Amino acid sequence: LASREEHPEDTLIRLGTLEIGGRRPVVMAGPCSVEGRDALIDIALTLKHLGADVLRGGAFKPRSSPYSFQGLGEEGLKYLADARAITGMPVVSEVMEPQAVGLVAEYVDILQVGARSMQNYALLRAVGHSHRPVLLKRGFSNTVEEWLLAAEYILSAGNPNVILCERGIRTFETATRNTLDLNAVPVARYLSHLPVIVDPSHGTGYSRYVIPMARAAIAAGAHGLIVEVHPEPDKALSDGQQSLTPTEFRQMVSQIHKVHDAI
Ligand code: PEP
Ligand code: MN
Repeated sequence: LASREEHPEDTLIRLGTLEIGGRRPVVMAGPCSVEGRDALIDIALTLKHLGADVLRGGAFKPRSSPYSFQGLGEEGLKYLADARAITGMPVVSEVMEPQAVGLVAEYVDILQVGARSMQNYALLRAVGHSHRPVLLKRGFSNTVEEWLLAAEYILSAGNPNVILCERGIRTFETATRNTLDLNAVPVARYLSHLPVIVDPSHGTGYSRYVIPMARAAIAAGAHGLIVEVHPEPDKALSDGQQSLTPTEFRQMVSQIHKVHDAI
């Protein structure tokens, strides 16, 4: 079902007036974690003004350490829904467990399956039964084939709206947090009709590398980007070092549109 052979046309995912998978690159942006209501609404208004299409923010966070901030849970989802009501922007947030899919789907427009969960087949089936589009991150140790098979679980459970997201893989390189595999963009687009977006925040791990890799992702044919933005990256409760400031985000948006217009 994910294969381009059976389905030669690109899949377009519609969310209100927004189209994901079409000519115009879609920009998803927001903090790594939802940290509080006022802070989320402030950044959401700023991002909307600067050209973001979708607001991101984690409420259930898959942290490497159990002692790190784990997210605000349902309270965070409520703040995301408030931010959507105020800005009109659709919201995306991660769901980590099959039992939580119903709850998260009540509040968000797009369900994110994180890199660590890409082969949680019970979760893939559960989001496959949901009516919400799914943003499926590539696992950091998974091949493109495994990623497309993960998409197949969701599609075969009845949900046709899957967005593939390349977010960097583990390699021997330590200068960056992950190695953003931009090969995966044309490869996934060749093999599949599903929209492909790129996360240069997790893909590099350092804010200084995010804008160049965002430009490269668009040049490689990505249908959009998902990036972390925080008003004060030094104070972020998670992933501050890879978060853009709003000023940097504005520069990124202007540059990716130039790249897009040139190709
Ligand atoms: C995130 O989007 O904040 C996140 C945890 O992403 P990933 O699953 O790619 O690590
Ligand atoms: Mn993050």
